[in-house]
Amino acid sequence: MHILLTNDDGVAAPGLQAARQALASLGRVTVLAPDRNWSASGHAKTLHRPLRVWDTRLLDGTPALATDGAPSDCVALVALGLLDEPVDLVVSGINPHANLGHDVTYSGTVTAAMEAVIAGLPGIAVSLDTPDDLSIPIDFDPAARVAASLARQIFDHGFPPGILLNVNVPHLSIESMSGVQITRQGIRVYRDALVRRDDPRQRPYYWIGGDTPTGVDEPGTDFWAVKGGFVSITPLQLDLTAREALPQLQGWDLHL
Ligand code: MN
Repeated sequence: MHILLTNDDGVAAPGLQAARQALASLGRVTVLAPDRNWSASGHAKTLHRPLRVWDTRLLDGTPALATDGAPSDCVALVALGLLDEPVDLVVSGINPHANLGHDVTYSGTVTAAMEAVIAGLPGIAVSLDTPDDLSIPIDFDPAARVAASLARQIFDHGFPPGILLNVNVPHLSIESMSGVQITRQGIRVYRDALVRRDDPRQRPYYWIGGDTPTGVDEPGTDFWAVKGGFVSITPLQLDLTAREALPQLQGWDLHL
């Protein structure tokens, strides 16, 4: 089995290295990741400049490929023939923050897995719900084990085309986790605030700041599962049609 591993935090990210180590037990792992942080960059396609790809190494010395493209570009490059051998699965992560509810539309981690679906490959996005307290060291290993066992399931059972898995893992040891929940996408509650400051030449500039987002704690959702200490696995599709709105719109008096 040949796995493409990418992320949105950049090729030097520790979550990427932890995922590679765990996935290596399943087969060949090719790492192609952005050379910088693309978190919250959404689903990107670089069309207006060339893409470069070069050899690099992960923190542990393992050979990897880096690019100046976006996470979804990494997947497109490989799907379009960058490597000498095709890949069977795309894994994206491990992101050092959860990607729950509306986050999936912002997340470079998740949109890399969306690009896998567009390329006809199974895709898994893996994110770790780390605490806000920066003094707590982050342990990616339990989430890496979850990613590897899920990849094993996909290899054993196959997976329907057109679907990606958005996986969120609580920041707990495997033994302390409550279990696994298959969930639906929940609702994020953002607490963004616009911060206006003045630069040294008294011109204003802006940051989107504010507090860490929270979410609606509704049973069956991704947010609810992770909050309860469960691994959350949400199957996602790229068809975003609001089907329940179709009859209402069809009843409008729309004509040219
Ligand atoms: Mn990220």
